Amino acid sequence: MNKRRSILPLVLTYTLTILGLLAAVQWGSRTVTVLAEKIPIERNICFVIDPDHGGEDGGATSCTGVSESTLNLQISLRLNDLLTLLGYDTKLIRDSNISIYTEGESIAQKKVSDLKERVRIVNETENAILLSIHQNHFPDSRYSGPQVFFHKSDDSIALANAMQTALTGTLSPGSKRQIKPAQGIYLMEHIQKTGVLIECGFLSNPAEEARLRDAEYQKKLCAVIATAAISYANT
Ligand SMILES: [Zn+2]
Repeated sequence: MNKRRSILPLVLTYTLTILGLLAAVQWGSRTVTVLAEKIPIERNICFVIDPDHGGEDGGATSCTGVSESTLNLQISLRLNDLLTLLGYDTKLIRDSNISIYTEGESIAQKKVSDLKERVRIVNETENAILLSIHQNHFPDSRYSGPQVFFHKSDDSIALANAMQTALTGTLSPGSKRQIKPAQGIYLMEHIQKTGVLIECGFLSNPAEEARLRDAEYQKKLCAVIATAAISYANT
C-alpha cells in the first residue's frame, strides 16, 4: 500500500513528461533526435515488444468486429516508437499483420512454429525485457481494466507489479485487477528472461473497446507502459 502511494506521483510525472515528448514529435525529426540525445539512458537492456497473434491467427474479436491482432500491432508500433524516441534499444517481433512461423503446413503447425520463433527471439536477445501485448475478452461484457501476467521469476513479478500499479492508477482507477502468473501461455513459460504479458483491456466491454481503438488512448496507454518499464529497468 505504502509502496503504491510512493510510486504513483513518479509515474504521473514520467507520463506527463512522455506525453510532452510525444507532442514534441510533431515538431519534426530533428527535435526528436535532440531530445533522445539529452535523456540519460540505461543502455544495458533491450525491450522486446511482442504484438501477439497476427496473420491467420487474429486472436480475440472485439464487440465491433476488430481483431485483437490489429490492436496489438497498433499499440506495439506506438510503444516501439516511444521507447526508440526515448533512446532505448527495442526489438519488435512483428511490424505488420503476419505470423512469424518458419515451418509447417497446417495452421496448427504454423502456430507452433510462430510461438517457438517468438521464444527464440526473446531468449537470444541479450538483456531482454519482454513486453507482450494482448487484449482481453470475456463472454460477460461487464468486465474491464488492464491486467498484467508475469513470467515466473522475481524480476518479472517486480516488473508486473510496477506495470499493474501504473496502468490501474492512471487508466483504470478503482479496478481491483491483480497481477497473475502467465500459466499455460507457451511464450511466457519458455522465456528465460524478464517478461510480462499485458492485457491492455477487454474487447468484450463496449466502453473499453472504444477506448482501445482510439489513437489518443493508445498513446496514453503506451506512455504508461513505457514509464513503468523504464522505471523498472532503472532500478
Ligand atoms: Zn491474446
